[in-house]
Amino acid sequence: MNRTASQALFERAQHFIPGGVNSPVRAFRAVGGSPVFIKSAKGAYVYDEDGNEYIELINSWGPMILGHGHELIHEAVAEAAQHSFSFGAPTRREVEVAELIVSMVPSVEKVRMVNSGTEATMSAIRVARGFTGRDKIIKFEGCYHGHGDSFLIAAGSGAATFGQPDSPGVTRGVANDTLTAPYNDLEAVRQLVDANKNHIAALILEPVVGNMGCVLPEPGFLQGLRKLCDEEGIVLIFDEVMTGFRLARGGAQERFGITPDMTTMGKIIGGGMPVGAYGGKAEIMNWVSPAGPVYQAGTLSGNPIAMAAGQAMLQYLNAHPEVYSQLETAGSKLAAGFNKSLQKLGLDYTVNQIGSMYTLFFTNQTVKDFPSAKTSDLVLFGKYFHAMLNRGIYLGPSQFESMFLSTALTDKHLDLIIAANEDALSEVLSL
Ligand code: PMP
Repeated sequence: MNRTASQALFERAQHFIPGGVNSPVRAFRAVGGSPVFIKSAKGAYVYDEDGNEYIELINSWGPMILGHGHELIHEAVAEAAQHSFSFGAPTRREVEVAELIVSMVPSVEKVRMVNSGTEATMSAIRVARGFTGRDKIIKFEGCYHGHGDSFLIAAGSGAATFGQPDSPGVTRGVANDTLTAPYNDLEAVRQLVDANKNHIAALILEPVVGNMGCVLPEPGFLQGLRKLCDEEGIVLIFDEVMTGFRLARGGAQERFGITPDMTTMGKIIGGGMPVGAYGGKAEIMNWVSPAGPVYQAGTLSGNPIAMAAGQAMLQYLNAHPEVYSQLETAGSKLAAGFNKSLQKLGLDYTVNQIGSMYTLFFTNQTVKDFPSAKTSDLVLFGKYFHAMLNRGIYLGPSQFESMFLSTALTDKHLDLIIAANEDALSEVLSL
């Protein structure tokens, strides 16, 4: 596959952009080689600067749940763009989008729009701290909540990929206020809470993890956290930036029947535009300025173009419950196909899958937390990634990421992915 145009762009980019990219995982450092520069996308496909076509499983790391260039979202954005791009003043659509979110996400009684998932999580813990009058937070090793200082402690996603779970530049003071526990380890959380009685403002987690690869909560884990937070007056925050509007219409909280106190959202909520949001119980959200004393603001927050895209997306999801059954069927089919191939090839690697999220881990261990995710053979993953790319399947370029399916994937696409997977595994393992 010729990728000379992409390679030339990467060369140029490295002179002017740190590492040549505007978000680290894109640089392909974890898998080696030169990143693919994307020119356009439609439906289940992306096209690069050299004209190569790929079926893709990144979908902008989640937002493109309906595939690329969905007509309704396209039309909504084009219509909104005729009325200028930003006002810095309230608009009708912000009210309508807030109403939609409240109607869809069980825990959300009030919601504030921001511009990214990072802003959503940073703001949510500030509000939780204001509300409780406490300083410390608990997060889980390998969970990623954006690049806010408080979260770059034992962080997943790119931070894990580059071996920088604790970033330089985060002050000791901030780091001391972030306590970490292994995912799925309720007892470890209990011990942290006991050792820091009345000091924990919030416990934040991905209710299904995408950022150490796809990792599911074990039965009882979310329930146990809910109970503990209730007993100890801790604000339970579900970071549903990835899972929101994906694992169910109302996110993981609907799927698992556990209602957090606050929820952070992003990705799908903007239909691909830069958007995030945080919301929760009215008594907590009323602490947000100007209703309350916790300050949080944004020049572009509730941006009219982003709201138009988000509204079209959420309205569509609201009106089409079959989206979720389609994604369930697609996810199960893919996981079953992968497992069949693994069996056929005599391999005991681990496939974690739930709905439209999955990761193939190159380990025979059950992957339930960050230490078990790290038992994966990362060199092998890099080879597999390129073998898939050369077969026209574009995966997330790191073992510590989830893949995301969209409704644009037909049975034909899924069959192609399953066949490419088997073929790629045979090639990289010389089977
Ligand atoms: N939380 C989670 C669970 C995420 O997956 C991400 C990004 N992948 C973020 C927060 C940060 O969102 P953003 O990249 O939009 O700042």
